[in-house]
Amino acid sequence: MRWESTPPGLAKLQLRAIAELRQLFGEDAISIDDEDLHLHGYSEWSTVNCDQLPAAVAYPKSTEDVSKIAQICHKYRVPMIPYSGGSSLEGNFSAPHGGITIDFLHMDKILKLHEDDLDVVVQPSIQWMQLNEMIKHTGLFFPIDPGPPAKVGGMVGTNCSGTNAVRYGTMKDWVINLTVVLADGRVIKTRQRPRKSSAGYNLTGMFVGSEGTLGIVTEITLKLAVLPEETRVGVATFDTIRDAANAAMRVMRKGVPIQCMEILDEVQMSVINKAGGTNRVWKESPTLFFKFSGTKSGVLESIDITKVIAKDSGSTSFEFAKNEKECRDIWSARKESLWSMLSLRKDGSTDVWSTDVAVPLSRLPDIIELSKKDLDDLGMFASILGHVGDGNFHESIMYDKTDPEQRAKIEQVVHAMVDRAIEMEGSCTVPGPLKLMLPDLNLE
Ligand SMILES: Cc1cc2nc3c(=O)[nH]c(=O)nc-3n(C[C@H](O)[C@H](O)[C@H](O)COP(=O)(O)OP(=O)(O)OC[C@H]3O[C@@H](n4cnc5c(N)ncnc54)[C@H](O)[C@@H]3O)c2cc1C
Repeated sequence: MRWESTPPGLAKLQLRAIAELRQLFGEDAISIDDEDLHLHGYSEWSTVNCDQLPAAVAYPKSTEDVSKIAQICHKYRVPMIPYSGGSSLEGNFSAPHGGITIDFLHMDKILKLHEDDLDVVVQPSIQWMQLNEMIKHTGLFFPIDPGPPAKVGGMVGTNCSGTNAVRYGTMKDWVINLTVVLADGRVIKTRQRPRKSSAGYNLTGMFVGSEGTLGIVTEITLKLAVLPEETRVGVATFDTIRDAANAAMRVMRKGVPIQCMEILDEVQMSVINKAGGTNRVWKESPTLFFKFSGTKSGVLESIDITKVIAKDSGSTSFEFAKNEKECRDIWSARKESLWSMLSLRKDGSTDVWSTDVAVPLSRLPDIIELSKKDLDDLGMFASILGHVGDGNFHESIMYDKTDPEQRAKIEQVVHAMVDRAIEMEGSCTVPGPLKLMLPDLNLE
């Protein structure tokens, strides 16, 4: 469905806003191309998609451009939806009421690199992997690592995490300040550039994770970390998912300074094997992936302790990447697991439902075991994987989106997992059907 289903009052205002924007910026900068609208209003990775698309996509080149776009949208009361890498998984950049999507495609630069201050000032459309490639000569890196296509603006929007979160925390811990365009076009900077400051309200914290609802981020100052001297990747397999989760919890409880610790069930390991791409065949049983980093001696010590804990918890094997290439292959297997799953779809009607819950660490073995049983009972192709070092895991379920019965069954299982997580004092980011979350707009 296109944006013509927007309430007529809003549709008229949108047309006027688009006309004024096109007059100011030219037609190329304000796209109404069908394919472009679809690309910005729909995602095959997302668990939810609404029926609506944005009415236009704006491509600003500067904070000033964004401010002018906001002024015009504000004048006509037209929604604005910021868009960076488009990799968010829960309908985050949907345009349920149409409106203007703002894609920062042309705002992808490093503005200033302060090596000695360990920080960098960037525009929103720089991708985190690209940023790390561009600064690797400094011996510094930006450690937050969500989906490979993610860009810094969207990472601020979602307060994302990633496999490194167990060591480095989440996005909110790495943002020093933001330049933000407010809904009416005013531009603010949230604070100055010291790494630490307790002065004033924590405006930066308010915008991080606000998904573009409070303002549009056009510049970001990020902290950087020093690249570790040594990094090793290890893989341990277990007979049961409970054993694997239990080992993960014990590694954390022991205080081993791991950089990442990821759990994948046997289904997920088979998905990686089927997708190929890692130059080896993995044992298809519940598996923990570890990344150790630090000084050479520190890494060796961490490995020794982890091996003992894994063995005590029932590991059936423990091995290491032999070289950097193998290290990268192992890690990319984990990072690309969603795509591995998507690549197994047989036809256009199959979709993957991904979910996201987190619980206090000690409850992890319980919730993973119970959720795994529910998935097995479901009888569909479904797997568990997660950032277990933070008590966070995902279920991914392959289903036929044209079959309402399958959808209803999955909803039941997913809701049971979410209820369980909440009971265990955990949290979730699984959205309900989008229409239930949106207030009615009466713009007739
Ligand atoms: C394979 C895969 C693995 C993933 N793994 C993880 C993971 O481990 N941890 C994790 O947290 N996420 C993960 N994600 C989800 C996703 O990568 C993150 O949510 C990421 O932060 C989204 O960044 P993006 O640039 O793609 O944002 P987008 O999808 O473009 O936008 C995300 C949100 O931010 C808003 N936004 C975008 N730009 C701006 C801006 N300039 N100003 C204000 N708001 C803005 C958007 O409106 C939207 O609400 C994964 C995704 C994939 C596909």
